Amino acid sequence: MNIHEYQGKSILKSFGVAIQEGLVADTPQEAVEVAKKLHEQTGTGWFVVKAQIHAGGRGKGEVKETGSRGVVLAKGLDKVEDIAAGILGGTLVTAQTGEAGKMVNKVLIAQDVYYPGESEPAEYYMSVLLDRASGKHIIMYSPDGGVNIEEVAEKTPERIFKEEIDPMLGLQGFQMRRVAFNLGLSGQAFKQMSKFVASLYKAFLGCDASMFEINPVLKTSDDKIIAVDSKVTLDGNALYRHKDYAEMRDKTEEDATEVEADEAGLNFVNLDGNVGCMVNGAGLAMATMDIIKLSGGEPANFLDVGGTADAARVEKAFRIILKDTSVKAILVNIFGGIVRCDRVAQGIVDAYKNIGDIPVPIIVRLQGTNAKEAKQLIEDSGLEVHSVILLQEAADKVKDVLGA
Ligand code: GDP
Ligand code: MG
Repeated sequence: MNIHEYQGKSILKSFGVAIQEGLVADTPQEAVEVAKKLHEQTGTGWFVVKAQIHAGGRGKGEVKETGSRGVVLAKGLDKVEDIAAGILGGTLVTAQTGEAGKMVNKVLIAQDVYYPGESEPAEYYMSVLLDRASGKHIIMYSPDGGVNIEEVAEKTPERIFKEEIDPMLGLQGFQMRRVAFNLGLSGQAFKQMSKFVASLYKAFLGCDASMFEINPVLKTSDDKIIAVDSKVTLDGNALYRHKDYAEMRDKTEEDATEVEADEAGLNFVNLDGNVGCMVNGAGLAMATMDIIKLSGGEPANFLDVGGTADAARVEKAFRIILKDTSVKAILVNIFGGIVRCDRVAQGIVDAYKNIGDIPVPIIVRLQGTNAKEAKQLIEDSGLEVHSVILLQEAADKVKDVLGA
């Protein structure tokens, strides 16, 4: 599950990670209120106004309606309202959002941490993730952090370092120090960085994250090390252990159809193709998508109706698939084990009746428990459903109806 920067930072802070402090606001007026509060808490006179969307690249991104950037420095309390107004309610387009952009519903008002002092502020990159191949955690980091990290990865990959952590042993002292050393730090900043890495790894484990990306980690001009940005992805399967994190889910950031499917208990992922599919079981769903591709189509979705498919679920699944106007055919591929094929067939017949005119051809392959009864049910209904038994026949039929 993805969460917003401000939510990620609050999790980091709860594990003792030093962060750029900030408060969130829904309106330009509230932005001023929280900026005042932030001034009282931290003494800061300058603020950064940061769009909260589930995508990075905001600093370089642009709000379609106003031309504002997604991250803007306010050099004084009197600048906050206008800057917030230029971002809130707008559509922010970044390298990660696609052309459509994302609507900004909240801004984070954060303290300016790039203040002048003894040394220049420096931006580092740091992420924590699980390497499934080795079964180890990786801390990936670079002295060249900030908004151009993609370019660093492409042009100077040797400037990206990796520290591998054996989860059974945990993060070792020498590893924290090696990170600080490779980042070119010394003195107070070196100590602060070691501490930062330790608390970051503790947070990663403690919140059951699947990924952390902190870019930039900032060395301030007075040698503090703090997280200025946070991209935190939580493991959805571990949310039952963190009820307070589950509440951080922002459904407005997700695909509306996927949210609807999720609420109906369907495993659904929207894709770009033209053949809708309804399948039971994730493995069969993957195989069905392969078959669609092999027959010249492109899957429009992944949909696993699960092991308890009944008529109501099947109808719901149809409705969800049909929301996608690029769907030119629907392939239903059900293997009846626990699920009974005749129930699914009944669902298809009901869906036809209840939804009215379904504008695309439907190819149905029902195999297993009560397959015969299912075929009979569909034939008796008089509906124009292409019923097939073999997977190859299904693929050929897809080819036929697509004219491929
Ligand atoms: P992203 O572009 O979505 O990754 O958003 P970030 O939170 O990483 O911010 C983008 C950039 O804004 C940073 O790399 C900094 O250069 C700048 N920025 C962030 N916070 C501050 C701040 O407190 N003061 C100043 N002057 N710049 C900041
Ligand atoms: Mg960033």
